[in-house]
Amino acid sequence: MSQLVLNNVRKSYGDVEVIKGVDLDIKQGEFCVFVGPSGCGKSTLLRMISGLESITGGKISIGGEVVNDVAAADRGLAMVFQSYALYPHMTVRQNLSFGLENINTSKTDIESKIGSVSKMLQIDMLLDRKPKDLSGGQRQRVAIGRAVVREPSIFLFDEPLSNLDAELRVDMRGEIADLHRRLGNTMIYVTHDQVEAMTMADKIAVLRFGEVEQFGAPLEIYNRPNNIFVAGFIGSPKMNFVEGVVAKLDGSNLTFKTKSGAEIALPAADFDLSEGANVTLGFRPNHLTIAEGAADLKVTVRDAEQLGGESFVFGQCDDAPITLHLRGQTDVDHGAEIGVAIDREHIHLFDTDSGNTLRKA
Ligand code: ADP
Ligand code: MG
Repeated sequence: MSQLVLNNVRKSYGDVEVIKGVDLDIKQGEFCVFVGPSGCGKSTLLRMISGLESITGGKISIGGEVVNDVAAADRGLAMVFQSYALYPHMTVRQNLSFGLENINTSKTDIESKIGSVSKMLQIDMLLDRKPKDLSGGQRQRVAIGRAVVREPSIFLFDEPLSNLDAELRVDMRGEIADLHRRLGNTMIYVTHDQVEAMTMADKIAVLRFGEVEQFGAPLEIYNRPNNIFVAGFIGSPKMNFVEGVVAKLDGSNLTFKTKSGAEIALPAADFDLSEGANVTLGFRPNHLTIAEGAADLKVTVRDAEQLGGESFVFGQCDDAPITLHLRGQTDVDHGAEIGVAIDREHIHLFDTDSGNTLRKA
Protein backbone atom coordinates (compact mmCIF):
# COMPACT_ATOMS: atom_id res chain seq x y z
CA MET A 1 0.00 0.00 0.00
CA SER A 2 1.27 3.46 -0.84
CA GLN A 3 2.08 5.51 2.23
CA LEU A 4 3.64 8.59 0.71
CA VAL A 5 3.02 9.75 -2.84
CA LEU A 6 4.61 12.76 -4.52
CA ASN A 7 3.09 14.00 -7.79
CA ASN A 8 5.06 16.49 -9.85
CA VAL A 9 6.34 18.21 -6.71
CA ARG A 10 8.18 21.48 -7.35
CA LYS A 11 10.01 24.14 -5.39
CA SER A 12 11.41 27.47 -6.51
CA TYR A 13 13.32 30.08 -4.59
CA GLY A 14 12.64 33.26 -6.57
CA ASP A 15 13.49 32.44 -10.20
CA VAL A 16 15.52 29.37 -9.32
CA GLU A 17 13.74 26.02 -9.47
CA VAL A 18 15.53 23.62 -7.11
CA ILE A 19 12.99 20.74 -7.19
CA LYS A 20 11.85 20.15 -10.76
CA GLY A 21 8.81 17.91 -10.76
CA VAL A 22 9.43 14.90 -8.52
CA ASP A 23 7.18 11.82 -8.69
CA LEU A 24 7.65 9.13 -6.04
CA ASP A 25 5.52 6.35 -4.61
CA ILE A 26 6.76 5.03 -1.26
CA LYS A 27 5.04 1.97 0.17
CA GLN A 28 3.98 1.37 3.76
CA GLY A 29 6.96 0.13 5.79
CA GLU A 30 9.61 0.87 3.17
CA PHE A 31 13.04 2.24 4.03
CA CYS A 32 13.60 4.76 1.25
CA VAL A 33 16.89 6.61 0.83
CA PHE A 34 17.25 9.90 -1.06
CA VAL A 35 20.84 10.03 -2.26
CA GLY A 36 22.68 12.53 -4.42
CA PRO A 37 25.50 15.05 -4.42
CA SER A 38 25.50 18.07 -2.12
CA GLY A 39 23.05 20.75 -3.28
CA CYS A 40 20.86 18.45 -5.42
CA GLY A 41 17.77 19.16 -3.29
CA LYS A 42 17.58 16.24 -0.83
CA SER A 43 16.98 18.35 2.28
CA THR A 44 14.56 20.62 0.46
CA LEU A 45 12.50 17.63 -0.69
CA LEU A 46 12.49 16.13 2.82
CA ARG A 47 11.46 19.44 4.37
CA MET A 48 8.64 19.77 1.84
CA ILE A 49 7.38 16.31 2.85
CA SER A 50 7.64 17.28 6.53
CA GLY A 51 5.74 20.51 6.00
CA LEU A 52 8.62 22.68 7.25
CA GLU A 53 8.97 24.04 3.71
CA SER A 54 6.08 25.12 1.47
CA ILE A 55 5.75 23.64 -2.00
CA THR A 56 5.56 25.67 -5.20
CA GLY A 57 3.66 23.04 -7.22
CA GLY A 58 2.38 19.49 -7.26
CA LYS A 59 0.79 17.27 -4.64
CA ILE A 60 2.01 15.42 -1.56
CA SER A 61 -0.22 12.66 -0.14
CA ILE A 62 0.27 10.71 3.09
CA GLY A 63 -1.89 7.62 3.62
CA GLY A 64 -4.09 8.65 0.69
CA GLU A 65 -4.76 12.17 2.01
CA VAL A 66 -3.38 15.27 0.26
CA VAL A 67 -1.37 17.18 2.89
CA ASN A 68 -0.30 20.24 0.88
CA ASP A 69 -2.23 22.46 3.30
CA VAL A 70 -1.75 20.40 6.48
CA ALA A 71 0.60 21.95 9.07
CA ALA A 72 3.87 20.16 9.83
CA ALA A 73 2.73 19.22 13.35
CA ASP A 74 -0.41 17.54 12.00
CA ARG A 75 1.24 15.32 9.37
CA GLY A 76 2.15 12.53 11.80
CA LEU A 77 5.83 12.67 10.90
CA ALA A 78 9.00 12.97 12.99
CA MET A 79 12.30 14.30 11.74
CA VAL A 80 15.88 13.57 12.88
CA PHE A 81 18.54 16.08 11.86
CA GLN A 82 22.29 15.90 11.34
CA SER A 83 22.73 18.55 14.01
CA TYR A 84 20.66 16.51 16.54
CA ALA A 85 18.71 19.69 17.46
CA LEU A 86 18.47 18.73 21.16
CA TYR A 87 17.50 21.31 23.78
CA PRO A 88 20.81 22.00 25.55
CA HIS A 89 19.30 23.13 28.87
CA MET A 90 17.08 20.04 29.19
CA THR A 91 18.05 16.57 30.39
CA VAL A 92 17.76 13.57 28.09
CA ARG A 93 14.48 12.65 29.81
CA GLN A 94 13.09 16.15 29.25
CA ASN A 95 14.26 16.14 25.64
CA LEU A 96 12.41 12.88 25.09
CA SER A 97 9.21 13.94 26.86
CA PHE A 98 9.02 17.45 25.47
CA GLY A 99 7.17 16.62 22.27
CA LEU A 100 4.73 14.40 24.16
CA GLU A 101 3.72 16.98 26.73
CA ASN A 102 2.88 19.16 23.77
CA ILE A 103 0.40 16.61 22.48
CA ASN A 104 -1.25 16.01 25.88
CA THR A 105 -0.01 12.51 26.70
CA SER A 106 -0.58 11.36 30.30
CA LYS A 107 2.38 11.27 32.74
CA THR A 108 2.31 7.48 33.13
CA ASP A 109 2.18 6.98 29.37
CA ILE A 110 5.15 9.31 28.94
CA GLU A 111 7.12 7.46 31.63
CA SER A 112 6.50 4.06 30.11
CA LYS A 113 7.29 5.22 26.57
CA ILE A 114 10.54 6.84 27.68
CA GLY A 115 11.39 3.67 29.60
CA SER A 116 11.00 1.35 26.66
CA VAL A 117 12.46 3.62 24.00
CA SER A 118 15.51 4.54 26.08
CA LYS A 119 16.17 0.83 26.71
CA MET A 120 15.79 0.03 23.04
CA LEU A 121 18.31 2.75 22.12
CA GLN A 122 20.60 2.02 25.09
CA ILE A 123 20.31 5.49 26.56
CA ASP A 124 18.42 4.42 29.72
CA MET A 125 21.53 5.10 31.85
CA LEU A 126 21.76 8.66 30.51
CA LEU A 127 18.27 10.01 31.21
CA ASP A 128 19.38 12.60 33.78
CA ARG A 129 22.32 13.97 31.78
CA LYS A 130 22.30 17.05 29.61
CA PRO A 131 23.32 16.90 25.93
CA LYS A 132 26.73 18.49 26.59
CA ASP A 133 27.64 15.48 28.75
CA LEU A 134 26.95 12.99 25.94
CA SER A 135 29.11 11.70 23.09
CA GLY A 136 28.09 12.38 19.49
CA GLY A 137 26.68 8.89 19.10
CA GLN A 138 24.69 9.18 22.34
CA ARG A 139 23.27 12.54 21.26
CA GLN A 140 22.17 11.07 17.96
CA ARG A 141 20.48 8.20 19.83
CA VAL A 142 18.57 10.73 21.95
CA ALA A 143 17.52 12.59 18.79
CA ILE A 144 16.28 9.31 17.31
CA GLY A 145 14.56 8.45 20.61
CA ARG A 146 12.74 11.74 20.56
CA ALA A 147 11.34 10.81 17.16
CA VAL A 148 10.45 7.25 18.24
CA VAL A 149 8.44 8.26 21.35
CA ARG A 150 6.16 10.36 19.17
CA GLU A 151 5.12 7.20 17.26
CA PRO A 152 5.05 8.89 13.88
CA SER A 153 3.64 7.18 10.79
CA ILE A 154 6.80 8.16 8.88
CA PHE A 155 10.32 8.89 10.11
CA LEU A 156 12.37 11.45 8.21
CA PHE A 157 16.15 11.44 8.65
CA ASP A 158 18.37 14.18 7.20
CA GLU A 159 22.00 12.97 7.13
CA PRO A 160 21.76 11.88 10.78
CA LEU A 161 25.19 10.23 10.85
CA SER A 162 27.29 12.85 9.08
CA ASN A 163 28.73 14.28 12.29
CA LEU A 164 29.91 10.91 13.62
CA ASP A 165 33.30 9.32 13.06
CA ALA A 166 33.56 6.51 10.50
CA GLU A 167 33.38 3.57 12.89
CA LEU A 168 30.43 4.92 14.84
CA ARG A 169 28.67 5.70 11.58
CA VAL A 170 28.83 2.05 10.57
CA ASP A 171 27.49 0.99 14.01
CA MET A 172 24.64 3.52 13.93
CA ARG A 173 23.80 2.48 10.37
CA GLY A 174 23.15 -1.01 11.70
CA GLU A 175 21.14 0.34 14.63
CA ILE A 176 18.85 2.41 12.45
CA ALA A 177 18.31 -0.57 10.14
CA ASP A 178 17.52 -2.63 13.24
CA LEU A 179 15.10 0.04 14.47
CA HIS A 180 13.35 -0.12 11.12
CA ARG A 181 13.00 -3.90 11.36
CA ARG A 182 11.56 -3.65 14.87
CA LEU A 183 9.15 -0.79 14.31
CA GLY A 184 8.23 -1.52 10.70
CA ASN A 185 7.49 2.17 10.02
CA THR A 186 8.03 3.89 6.72
CA MET A 187 11.36 5.72 6.88
CA ILE A 188 12.87 8.26 4.53
CA TYR A 189 16.57 8.75 4.93
CA VAL A 190 18.64 11.45 3.22
CA THR A 191 22.35 10.98 2.63
CA HIS A 192 25.06 11.97 0.15
CA ASP A 193 26.83 8.68 0.94
CA GLN A 194 26.05 5.99 -1.61
CA VAL A 195 27.36 3.26 0.71
CA GLU A 196 24.73 4.22 3.31
CA ALA A 197 22.15 4.18 0.55
CA MET A 198 23.19 0.75 -0.73
CA THR A 199 23.39 -0.87 2.70
CA MET A 200 20.25 0.56 4.34
CA ALA A 201 17.65 1.06 1.63
CA ASP A 202 14.74 -1.02 0.39
CA LYS A 203 14.41 1.64 -2.31
CA ILE A 204 16.82 4.34 -3.43
CA ALA A 205 15.89 7.59 -5.16
CA VAL A 206 18.99 9.00 -6.87
CA LEU A 207 18.64 12.78 -7.14
CA ARG A 208 20.53 15.25 -9.28
CA PHE A 209 19.77 18.94 -9.88
CA GLY A 210 16.33 18.58 -8.27
CA GLU A 211 15.22 15.60 -10.34
CA VAL A 212 14.94 11.88 -9.65
CA GLU A 213 17.37 10.15 -12.01
CA GLN A 214 16.34 6.65 -10.92
CA PHE A 215 14.11 5.05 -8.27
CA GLY A 216 14.47 1.37 -7.43
CA ALA A 217 15.95 -1.33 -5.22
CA PRO A 218 19.70 -0.91 -4.52
CA LEU A 219 20.90 -3.82 -6.65
CA GLU A 220 18.48 -2.98 -9.44
CA ILE A 221 20.10 0.46 -9.63
CA TYR A 222 23.61 -0.97 -9.32
CA ASN A 223 23.03 -3.61 -12.00
CA ARG A 224 20.94 -1.56 -14.40
CA PRO A 225 21.73 2.14 -14.02
CA ASN A 226 19.56 4.38 -16.21
CA ASN A 227 22.39 6.70 -17.20
CA ILE A 228 26.05 7.60 -16.81
CA PHE A 229 25.39 9.79 -13.78
CA VAL A 230 23.69 7.02 -11.79
CA ALA A 231 26.24 4.46 -12.99
CA GLY A 232 29.08 6.66 -11.73
CA PHE A 233 27.39 7.69 -8.48
CA ILE A 234 26.31 4.26 -7.19
CA GLY A 235 29.15 1.81 -6.54
CA SER A 236 32.58 2.28 -5.02
CA PRO A 237 35.15 2.60 -6.49
CA LYS A 238 33.12 4.14 -9.26
CA MET A 239 32.44 2.60 -12.66
CA ASN A 240 35.05 3.09 -15.41
CA PHE A 241 33.96 4.81 -18.63
CA VAL A 242 35.64 4.71 -22.05
CA GLU A 243 34.24 6.68 -24.99
CA GLY A 244 34.19 5.33 -28.53
CA VAL A 245 32.02 4.40 -31.51
CA VAL A 246 30.09 1.39 -32.70
CA ALA A 247 32.49 0.55 -35.54
CA LYS A 248 30.63 -2.57 -36.65
CA LEU A 249 27.37 -4.22 -35.75
CA ASP A 250 26.91 -7.83 -36.77
CA GLY A 251 23.84 -9.51 -35.33
CA SER A 252 24.50 -9.96 -31.62
CA ASN A 253 28.15 -8.85 -31.81
CA LEU A 254 29.57 -5.40 -31.96
CA THR A 255 32.98 -3.93 -32.50
CA PHE A 256 33.59 -1.03 -30.15
CA LYS A 257 36.40 1.27 -31.25
CA THR A 258 38.05 3.55 -28.70
CA LYS A 259 39.21 7.08 -29.53
CA SER A 260 42.78 5.86 -29.99
CA GLY A 261 41.61 3.12 -32.37
CA ALA A 262 41.68 0.02 -30.15
CA GLU A 263 38.93 -2.43 -31.14
CA ILE A 264 36.99 -4.49 -28.61
CA ALA A 265 34.51 -7.21 -29.58
CA LEU A 266 31.46 -7.10 -27.30
CA PRO A 267 28.10 -8.85 -27.05
CA ALA A 268 25.38 -6.57 -28.44
CA ALA A 269 22.17 -8.52 -27.84
CA ASP A 270 21.11 -6.59 -24.73
CA PHE A 271 21.48 -3.16 -26.30
CA ASP A 272 19.78 -0.90 -28.83
CA LEU A 273 22.65 0.17 -31.06
CA SER A 274 23.33 1.55 -34.51
CA GLU A 275 26.55 1.52 -36.49
CA GLY A 276 28.53 4.73 -36.20
CA ALA A 277 26.87 5.80 -32.92
CA ASN A 278 28.96 7.53 -30.28
CA VAL A 279 28.74 5.33 -27.22
CA THR A 280 30.36 5.13 -23.82
CA LEU A 281 31.40 1.74 -22.52
CA GLY A 282 31.04 1.30 -18.75
CA PHE A 283 32.55 -1.46 -16.62
CA ARG A 284 33.05 -1.70 -12.89
CA PRO A 285 36.52 -2.03 -11.29
CA ASN A 286 35.66 -5.52 -10.03
CA HIS A 287 34.76 -6.66 -13.54
CA LEU A 288 38.34 -6.24 -14.80
CA THR A 289 41.26 -8.63 -14.68
CA ILE A 290 44.87 -8.33 -15.75
CA ALA A 291 44.93 -10.07 -19.15
CA GLU A 292 46.89 -13.25 -19.49
CA GLY A 293 46.55 -13.29 -23.27
CA ALA A 294 45.02 -10.70 -25.61
CA ALA A 295 44.03 -7.52 -23.79
CA ASP A 296 40.98 -5.31 -24.33
CA LEU A 297 42.66 -2.16 -23.07
CA LYS A 298 46.22 -1.01 -22.40
CA VAL A 299 46.44 0.75 -19.05
CA THR A 300 49.32 2.86 -17.75
CA VAL A 301 49.49 2.36 -13.98
CA ARG A 302 49.71 5.45 -11.80
CA ASP A 303 49.41 3.80 -8.42
CA ALA A 304 48.48 0.57 -6.68
CA GLU A 305 47.00 0.06 -3.21
CA GLN A 306 47.62 -3.25 -1.50
CA LEU A 307 45.15 -4.08 1.25
CA GLY A 308 46.28 -7.67 1.65
CA GLY A 309 43.06 -9.47 0.81
CA GLU A 310 42.31 -7.17 -2.12
CA SER A 311 44.15 -4.62 -4.27
CA PHE A 312 43.28 -1.52 -6.22
CA VAL A 313 45.17 -0.46 -9.33
CA PHE A 314 44.70 3.10 -10.60
CA GLY A 315 45.73 4.00 -14.12
CA GLN A 316 44.88 5.64 -17.39
CA CYS A 317 43.73 4.47 -20.82
CA ASP A 318 43.83 7.28 -23.40
CA ASP A 319 42.35 10.11 -21.34
CA ALA A 320 40.07 7.90 -19.22
CA PRO A 321 40.97 7.03 -15.62
CA ILE A 322 40.74 3.27 -15.08
CA THR A 323 40.48 1.51 -11.71
CA LEU A 324 40.89 -2.21 -11.17
CA HIS A 325 39.62 -3.90 -8.02
CA LEU A 326 41.46 -7.21 -7.79
CA ARG A 327 41.11 -10.08 -5.37
CA GLY A 328 44.24 -10.85 -3.42
CA GLN A 329 47.62 -9.22 -3.96
CA THR A 330 49.27 -7.84 -7.09
CA ASP A 331 52.84 -7.06 -8.12
CA VAL A 332 51.69 -4.27 -10.47
CA ASP A 333 53.03 -0.85 -9.48
CA HIS A 334 53.56 2.75 -10.62
CA GLY A 335 54.72 3.09 -14.23
CA ALA A 336 53.72 -0.40 -15.39
CA GLU A 337 51.91 -0.90 -18.70
CA ILE A 338 49.31 -3.63 -18.28
CA GLY A 339 46.79 -5.31 -20.53
CA VAL A 340 43.31 -5.47 -19.04
CA ALA A 341 40.40 -7.78 -19.87
CA ILE A 342 36.77 -6.74 -19.41
CA ASP A 343 34.19 -9.25 -18.14
CA ARG A 344 31.72 -9.35 -21.06
CA GLU A 345 28.81 -10.33 -18.83
CA HIS A 346 28.85 -7.06 -16.93
CA ILE A 347 29.30 -4.35 -19.51
CA HIS A 348 27.17 -1.22 -19.79
CA LEU A 349 26.69 0.94 -22.87
CA PHE A 350 25.44 4.51 -22.83
CA ASP A 351 24.63 7.07 -25.47
CA THR A 352 27.55 9.50 -25.10
CA ASP A 353 25.52 12.63 -25.89
CA SER A 354 22.48 12.06 -23.66
CA GLY A 355 24.23 9.79 -21.14
CA ASN A 356 21.23 7.44 -21.21
CA THR A 357 21.61 3.69 -21.09
CA LEU A 358 21.34 1.79 -24.38
CA ARG A 359 20.25 -1.36 -22.57
CA LYS A 360 16.94 -2.73 -23.85
CA ALA A 361 14.10 -2.36 -21.34
P1 ADP B 1 21.09 18.99 -0.39
O1 ADP B 1 20.37 18.71 0.88
O2 ADP B 1 20.88 17.94 -1.45
O3 ADP B 1 22.54 19.25 -0.19
P2 ADP B 1 19.44 21.37 -0.45
O4 ADP B 1 18.06 20.82 -0.52
O5 ADP B 1 19.90 21.89 0.86
O6 ADP B 1 20.47 20.33 -1.05
O7 ADP B 1 19.54 22.58 -1.50
C1 ADP B 1 19.13 22.45 -2.84
C2 ADP B 1 19.35 23.75 -3.56
O8 ADP B 1 18.45 24.73 -3.08
C3 ADP B 1 20.75 24.31 -3.38
O9 ADP B 1 21.18 24.85 -4.61
C4 ADP B 1 20.54 25.39 -2.34
O10 ADP B 1 21.49 26.41 -2.51
C5 ADP B 1 19.15 25.87 -2.65
N1 ADP B 1 18.45 26.41 -1.45
C6 ADP B 1 18.16 25.72 -0.33
N2 ADP B 1 17.50 26.49 0.56
C7 ADP B 1 17.37 27.71 -0.02
C8 ADP B 1 16.77 28.96 0.39
N3 ADP B 1 16.16 29.08 1.58
N4 ADP B 1 16.86 29.98 -0.49
C9 ADP B 1 17.44 29.85 -1.70
N5 ADP B 1 18.02 28.72 -2.13
C10 ADP B 1 17.99 27.65 -1.32
MG1 MG C 1 21.06 18.56 2.84
